[in-house]
Amino acid sequence: MTTTSPLRFGVVGNPIKHSRSPSIHEAFAAQTGIALHYERILAPLDAFDHTCHDFFQQGGSGLNITVPFKEQAYTLAQDHLTTRGRLAGAVNTLWMEDGHIHGCNTDGEGLLNDLRRLGHDPAGKQVLLVGAGGAARGAVFPLLDAGCARLRIINRSPDRATQLLDHVLEQLPEFAARLTAGGLSQAQGPWDIVINATSSSLGGSPPDLPAGLYTPDALAYDMMYASQDTPFMTQAKAQGAASVADGLGMLVGQAAASFAIWHGLRPDMTPVLQALRGSASYT
Ligand code: NDP
Repeated sequence: MTTTSPLRFGVVGNPIKHSRSPSIHEAFAAQTGIALHYERILAPLDAFDHTCHDFFQQGGSGLNITVPFKEQAYTLAQDHLTTRGRLAGAVNTLWMEDGHIHGCNTDGEGLLNDLRRLGHDPAGKQVLLVGAGGAARGAVFPLLDAGCARLRIINRSPDRATQLLDHVLEQLPEFAARLTAGGLSQAQGPWDIVINATSSSLGGSPPDLPAGLYTPDALAYDMMYASQDTPFMTQAKAQGAASVADGLGMLVGQAAASFAIWHGLRPDMTPVLQALRGSASYT
């Protein structure tokens, strides 16, 4: 009789204790009948590359990457990036293929899946993206690729929004007519979908946004997730957004997209999202 050890996966970050990725991937594995082991890996701040090389040298199959290492993961996989990884300039999914470390960014796909699940497909919509950090970088190309009519990036530091726009247009100038950037006060509403990709809610306050952001049926989407409304969701309701949502569905969606890369199978997000939503606290 032969026995095969389960495939090894993990999530690398610092800190990492809080990560929900192991339970999400274990639930997908149970659902699809794949035997795997998925661990949390704390990488020292100055030893990200070493941690990843070590994992793959010991036979590991795939890694998710979280704060603060997504840009270092991009560099690690820079010769073998998907279009989404290259345009994001940040990578959250690594795998070994033909002896090389490959990288992709699945955050944007997770976001798109969730917007569609919520009945707000961005195709043909006017979309405002608030923030220009790593999470926003992962969202720009997928939103344009999905056919949004107009995408405006606004950020507390306006230069960073402009840099993000330049980074995308250098590689894809055909998006110039649909993509603009500015500061937080230059929102130029109203918008069908407003996405908060800032970390302001972590400090207990919403971003400092002007009034008049929302069309009558608009969705306000916060990439941050919490067991109660985030400060951005509360602000959006007060400013007239017809519906609000947090980023828990995006979290499960980016994991499902990583799972599909690694295993060639797309798991059903719904029961996993319901289980997480039902847990007492998931902040
Ligand atoms: P970064 O640190 O890379 O970027 C932070 C962004 O937030 C910058 O644009 C920064 O602006 C802005 N910001 C910070 N504080 C404020 C404030 N008080 N007012 C206005 N803007 C502010 O973080 P990430 O991009 O990695 O993460 C952003 C959020 O997205 C986090 O809440 C994170 O949890 C969430 N996220 C959710 C995911 C999911 O699956 N649901 C996946 C990835 C991220 P400036 O440039 O001016 O400093």
